[in-house]
Amino acid sequence: MTDSIVSRRGLMTGTAAGIIVAPALLASRRQAAAEEAAKGMAAEGTTATSMGEGIRALKLGAFRITVIRDGFRAADKVNEAFGTDRPKEEVARLLADNFLPGDQFVNSFSPVLVETGTEKILFDTGMGEMGASFGAGRLVEGLAAAGVKPEDITIVVLTHFHPDHFGGLMSGGKPAFLGARYVFGETEFAFWTAPDRKGTPAEKNHDMVMQTIHPLQDRATFLKEGDSVVSGITAMLAPGHTPGHMIFGVESEGRKLMLTADTCNHYVLSLQRPDWEVRFDADKAAAAASRRKVFDMIATDRLAFIGYHMPFPAVGFVEKSGPGYRFVPASYQFDI
Ligand SMILES: [Zn+2]
Repeated sequence: MTDSIVSRRGLMTGTAAGIIVAPALLASRRQAAAEEAAKGMAAEGTTATSMGEGIRALKLGAFRITVIRDGFRAADKVNEAFGTDRPKEEVARLLADNFLPGDQFVNSFSPVLVETGTEKILFDTGMGEMGASFGAGRLVEGLAAAGVKPEDITIVVLTHFHPDHFGGLMSGGKPAFLGARYVFGETEFAFWTAPDRKGTPAEKNHDMVMQTIHPLQDRATFLKEGDSVVSGITAMLAPGHTPGHMIFGVESEGRKLMLTADTCNHYVLSLQRPDWEVRFDADKAAAAASRRKVFDMIATDRLAFIGYHMPFPAVGFVEKSGPGYRFVPASYQFDI
């Protein structure tokens, strides 16, 4: 797998350094001005740019939702990740039909902050320190751009126990969100902490879960299908990607959206061909069944959704099309 990452911050710094007069001073002033402007824009619910278009604020009734770009990773060998049960040419053709390169894809990581007025709830924590090598792990920076400090977070919810979702839970070996309690899926916690994972392909992730998530269990509550995180935020089980993978309905003042986590992991390949097998799904058939169930509902009810691996800002809609669904990115629906 080849990683080719462009750091937006790096690019901006490079550009600023090219200015002739007092470049360092100008660069720092520009940076400060950009950060101030971004804060103001975020407060108004529009796209903020303090971390290079790295956060997107949405208004949902009385809730304020901020999607944060923790990072992204480019990879080649698409067919080894998506449509693994299909001929390489068929996968490349579908990508080309959608104006995408046939031999590369980008995976984006988007934790979500929901501010209800009384709670600041973080859904997933990004790559954390594991993302440093490719410019990811920028969650805390994104929270700062939204005016939120790590210690302000009151609840951390994990949709499932993969490292791109729990990597940011710890920082320097200590919990990163000191004021938070935790909400984990009951099935997911039971699966990954079970000693039976030893000696199986799940062992490495089990070990990481035991180091990172298990020590937090005293401050955790455990959700089942239909349970609420807080009033207006309800969990649904969408198994397959992992055994206890959970998604969430978020509703305020009659407006609603879904946080679909990893139900689909590519906006073309997983949505237009929901039955194609995906390497990242532990149980391929169950994952495909969950994809159909969840996106049938989202299409039928014309709901918005935020998908953790959708192209940033990861917010959109779907309509039924051919054997699957067509992704329609959101525009200004949540600015008004
Ligand atoms: Zn993921």
